[in-house]
Order: sequence, then structure tokens, then C-alpha cells
Amino acid sequence: MSNSVRVRFAPSPTGIPHVGNIRTALFNWLFARHHRGSFIVRIEDTDIVRRVKGAVEAILDSLRWLGLDWDEGPEVGGDYGPYFQSQRLEIYQEVAQRLVQGGHAYLCYCSAERLEEMRREQVKRKQPPGYDRRCRNLSEKERADLEAQGIIPVVRFRTPLEGQVKFQDLIRGEVVFDSETLDDFVLLKSDGYPTYHLANVVDDHLMKVSHVLRADEWLSSTPRHMLLYHALGYGPPKFAHLPMILGSDRAKLSKRHGATSVIWYRDRGYLPQAMVNFLALLGWSLDDKTEIMSREELISNFSIERIGKTAAIFSQEKLAWMNGVYIRQLDIEELVEWLMPFLERGPPQRVKRPISRDYVRRIAPLLQERMRTLEEGVELADFFFLEELDYAPDLLLERGLSRERGVQALSAAMEHLKASSFDASSLEGVLRPLAAELGLKTGEFFGLLRVATTGRTAAPPLFETMAVLGRERCLKRIEEALERLK
Ligand code: GLU
Repeated sequence: MSNSVRVRFAPSPTGIPHVGNIRTALFNWLFARHHRGSFIVRIEDTDIVRRVKGAVEAILDSLRWLGLDWDEGPEVGGDYGPYFQSQRLEIYQEVAQRLVQGGHAYLCYCSAERLEEMRREQVKRKQPPGYDRRCRNLSEKERADLEAQGIIPVVRFRTPLEGQVKFQDLIRGEVVFDSETLDDFVLLKSDGYPTYHLANVVDDHLMKVSHVLRADEWLSSTPRHMLLYHALGYGPPKFAHLPMILGSDRAKLSKRHGATSVIWYRDRGYLPQAMVNFLALLGWSLDDKTEIMSREELISNFSIERIGKTAAIFSQEKLAWMNGVYIRQLDIEELVEWLMPFLERGPPQRVKRPISRDYVRRIAPLLQERMRTLEEGVELADFFFLEELDYAPDLLLERGLSRERGVQALSAAMEHLKASSFDASSLEGVLRPLAAELGLKTGEFFGLLRVATTGRTAAPPLFETMAVLGRERCLKRIEEALERLK
């Protein structure tokens, strides 16, 4: 198949890209890279009503973030451009005209009001929806009259009234539709813009697309496309309709299941390599057990044969887990690189900026095991940066110590810490015996110190944490804790 593989991601810029759209992009990209073929991005922007400003940028940003580079398309161009359908209107108009001349399509003069009325009637009579073909067989005279009224027609496809449309789907096998279930769909609107069906087929042909990997929801469009390929004398590409993506409750994935936009995950501190791995497993698998796969492993193993027929489940829990795995695989320098922008942004106000990279380099190893997202890392790390800790005094006595014992223990700790070296093992060497001396369980004593130095009951290991905070900060915080207790 090498070299001949040409696939495309053909988003409509109608909003922020959904994980489902990007999963489609990823599968196409993996397939192209596996076969050393071409990955094309084509913007299907012919629905002017639904076009959303900024959507193209959001789509391209998502692809860039995930490293899904395209060989042809916006910004990079290519031999088969332009890659924005709105810049190809003449091509579609010409093809539509050819279809009319060949008898495969016809002009329809029905007004929006008439179609609306027809639809209402169909609903009332419980008939299937669809154009009633009133203009399919107009006489010359009738057409001339309508033209004379200045009505601008649409172009409709002359769908065969009987027979079947069959095609092989690479995932589902043979798919059959009865022609009578397909109406005479519109190809060209009266404003001169093509519909999705026409533009999609024409471009897949002109751009020499070999395989169409697209979401399941387009399956019912494919028989229309097959009819069009046939009428135009084009050989159709091969089709693979990707399984649906459901939420954990097995309902179609929607906002209700949490965020569905890829950009959201980027902004929350998910790593692109984790996202790619996660999305790749939404409908594809290597075997029944392998979860963690690098980009290279995904490329070398990807095949349409391993795409499932059943719906894939999108689990945010799994994504967070996987992200944690990828975070732990980073070396410290990389982790610092990822963390810096998140630390610079948040937690807001209270943190002094700019943030020292050297300091972050010492903190990062303490967070790495404990965070699933970069944003979680920032939340875990806030006490490293805050000037003033903010916690209730009772938290200090949370392990059941009395106020007096707490004061005594913190005062003793202060004295010892003034003289101790401030690396983790020296701190342990000083504080462990001190617990015994004070007659406290280590848990009680260390718990008290943890709250005093971090303001939290759960934080990274105490001695490492104190070492990174440094003597000055620790002493100041312990002093403040004493104030709180008194
Ligand atoms: N423009 C369609 C979409 O938004 C493309 C569907 C297809 O791949 O044919 O998904």
C-alpha cells in the first residue's frame, strides 16, 4: 500500500474541536504515517451559517499540540489546493452543472416555505422525511416559467428510485442501503455553495484520497457518496467508519461527561503524548492488554484491522491515570519545562513571580510521583511559593496533641533546626530522635511539622520538603505556627 496511501482529516469549522474529531484526525495520521503516505487537512467550510470564528485556528492548534503534522493543507499548501472548500466554489459549481447536463441531477425551484410545509405534512402523516421530488421531472415549459419568476434553483441529485447501494466498509464489512430510503439530496445551494456531500466527494476525488477514515455518524452519507462517485465516473476511495465514542455511562459522549474539547485538556496540564496514547485506544487496540505506547509504537502497530466495531468508552479517570504515567516518565528537566508555564500562571496572586527555575528543579521530583496533571502539580506545590500559609490553627493539633504539647514540640524543633544542616537526611537525623526525646510518636511529631511548614496534612515527604523550603522559610513558618497555637 506504500506511497499510495492518501488520507485526509476534513473538519468543519463549526466550533472547538471535540475529542471525537481529533480521534478521527489521529487515526488518519497514524494510518498515513504507518504506510508512509500523506496526511491531508482540508477545511470543509461551506456551511456559512454554522461557521464559527476562530474554529480553524482551534482545530490546527489541537493538531499541532498533539504533533499531528500534515503534509498538505492550510499553511503548508500542496499540489491539490486550495485546502479550504470555500475557496473552491467554482470547482463544485462546474461539477454540479456537469451532473445536470448528464441527467444525474436536476434543478429544483421549491421555496423554503414549500419545503417546510411538505416536511410538516410528512410528520403529520408519519411518512419518512425527504424531498417529494416535485421538480424531478419538470417540462421545459415549466422550468422556463419558474426561471422567468426569477427563482434561483438548487441542484438536486437524481437518486435512483429503486435498487440498492452497496459498499465494503473496512471495519464493518458489506454495508447495504435501499435506494428508496435516500431522497434527492441537494448538491448545490441557491447561494452557489455546495453541500457537504458534493464538496466532500469532489475533493476526495481531486485530492486523490485513497482511504476515508471517518466517524460512524457519516455512515448514512456514504451511500449518497457512492451514488455520486458512480454518476461522476470516479473510482471511490476505501471507507472505514470509526466506532462511536461513549461516556462512562454508555451514552453518546457529550458535555455532560466532562470536558470534550481537546484544548481544555491541554490547558489543564495533560501532556500531548498521553493524549495521543489515550485517543489511539478509543476504538483501536494493539491487543487486549497493552495500554502505554509511544508515538513510534503506535505508528508501527496501527492498522485498520485492529479498529473495533463496538463503541469506545471515554473515561476521564483513565486519561488522568495515563497522564500520570507519562508525567512519571519525564526526566526532571522536561518536567520543569512543562511545569514552568503552569506555575507562572497559577496559583494566582499570592505567589511571587518570576518563579525561579532552580527552585522548581528541586521541587519537581517531590511532585512527580503525586500528580496526574500539571495543574494538580501546581496545586500540590503552592506552599513552596506562598509567602503566607493559610490554614486553621486546629489543623496543627489534628493528630490529637494538646496545645501545650504542640507548643513544646514546635519550640524544641525550632531550637534544633537552627543548628542542623538542612539536607533531608540531616533533618531526619535530628528530628527522629527529637520525637523520642519529646515522648511523641513520629507520626504525631512529623504531622505537626508537616502542617507547620506546608499548611497541609498531606504533602510530599517531610524531610525532602523541608530541605527544599530551606531553613529560613521553615523557621519562619514554625514560628508562625507557634503564634497560631498561642
Ligand atoms: N466535514 C465533515 C466533518 O466535519 C467531514 C466528514 C468526512 O470525513 O467525510 O466531520
